Amino acid sequence: MKHYVNGVFTTTGTAFPLISPLDGSQRGTVPEATREIVDAAVRAARAALEGPWGAASVEERCAYLRRIADGIEARFDEFVAAEVADTGKPRDLAATVDIPRAIANFRAYADLSYGRPERAYHTRVPGWSGSGEALNYTVRRPLGVVAVISPWNLPLLLLTWKVAPALAAGNAVVAKPSEETPSTATLLAEVIDGVRLPPGAFNLVHGHGANAAGEFLTGHPGVDAIAFTGESATGSAIMRAAADHVTPLSFELGGKNPAVVFADADLDEAVEGTVRSSFTHSGQICLCTERVYVERPVFAAFTAKLAERARELKDYGPMISAGHRDKVLSYYRLAVEEGADVLAGGGVPAFGDARDGGFYVEPTVITGLPQDARTVREEVFGPICHVAPFDEEAEAIRLANDSPYGLAATVWTGDLSRAHRVAPKIEAGIVWVNCWNLRDLRTPFGGVKASGIGREGGEYSLDFFSEPVNICVKI
Ligand code: NAD
Repeated sequence: MKHYVNGVFTTTGTAFPLISPLDGSQRGTVPEATREIVDAAVRAARAALEGPWGAASVEERCAYLRRIADGIEARFDEFVAAEVADTGKPRDLAATVDIPRAIANFRAYADLSYGRPERAYHTRVPGWSGSGEALNYTVRRPLGVVAVISPWNLPLLLLTWKVAPALAAGNAVVAKPSEETPSTATLLAEVIDGVRLPPGAFNLVHGHGANAAGEFLTGHPGVDAIAFTGESATGSAIMRAAADHVTPLSFELGGKNPAVVFADADLDEAVEGTVRSSFTHSGQICLCTERVYVERPVFAAFTAKLAERARELKDYGPMISAGHRDKVLSYYRLAVEEGADVLAGGGVPAFGDARDGGFYVEPTVITGLPQDARTVREEVFGPICHVAPFDEEAEAIRLANDSPYGLAATVWTGDLSRAHRVAPKIEAGIVWVNCWNLRDLRTPFGGVKASGIGREGGEYSLDFFSEPVNICVKI
């Protein structure tokens, strides 16, 4: 594992261990970036903007993005293996979601940026500001040096989701991946080095967040914008650091996502959909469902089937770390203390092999808690969902919205009118109807309330990573 600063791979004196979540063994070490390394990365990024990278046309930038996508594709198996080793997720998930999406992120932003038109308006300026006609046109300028800070759950996917549009828009990037999952980011730096992106346009620093590389970066006066995905509490800390220099922010934060199941839904599809939405990547996706509200006539049938399917799950990955496993298990215990009925899971599985040294927890279905229970309100970020009944459509909407978070929601119904009536009333940035995590990269992605600030995806990311500048020419 190495930092990549100004086109050069480096390590520093101190290092921390990289632990496998699959069996608890130490896989290697990761260098911890000092303040000096972070500073060198920010200065290299600034210099890149003043050099060939800053002078590159959007078409040239898009060509780099395509070559990076090709470079990841050429080393596909290595990327998959690295993602599996870091996160412990099933190989199939990394090979069908994480790595293909990372490739798609670069291609999508090359497609979207190539030949992106500037905006122009012919206006008649009213008397109060001087009379006459003018041609106004708006050009987009990069923000400058952009800090990208990403979490461990979808390491390469979420990193490239920001790096690709940032580079497409002409910024220089200093990226800090999660300290838990440094491997695919390092491979990405190798690919970027291989396509000869001008030195300093992309820099990678490893290390921890608080009082470490993450904080050195977000508080750095040379950083012009921060794009962050992670916990809401970390977002608050970064906001405080950014306040000193009024640095613009894009935040994708935590969630406590609801699913609403109406009695007119296809019950089997709703159950299978909820199995996916609650237990994919062992619940460690920001979009995962942790609260399920089911219309009373089908509550018993739905809950019994969901619990049965959860008990059947065998091929699932571990929690990312011992610390996170302990946090998730503390919520399993809290749920019982709060009076929950545990219908499936609730503990640690016994495999009888090396996995018993890993950080596994059982897929868990609970019911019987009041809406104000902590287990129903707080993000667990593990494979657990609470199922509660409702009687009226308005009540379902109220329960779904009764959360400090508002990232994603899922509505299961066979009634088209109901789907269109309910979906816009749910306080979430993304509402899926009769599906989950079906993604078109051009659509807006992000959360309301404590789940984030701003939107990513398509034009929305390109808008964040550039500033519109209006030029007014008097005719
Ligand atoms: P985290 O907030 O602990 O860490 C995320 C990143 O921030 C890491 O790189 C970490 O080193 C860094 N960091 C931590 N403290 C920092 C500080 N004070 N200053 C600067 N950087 C700091 O999150 P995590 O545990 O890695 O990820 C899980 C969380 O991310 C969950 O809450 C999940 O919901 C959220 N998430 C949200 C989305 C989304 O799109 N909304 C996507 C994935 C994950």
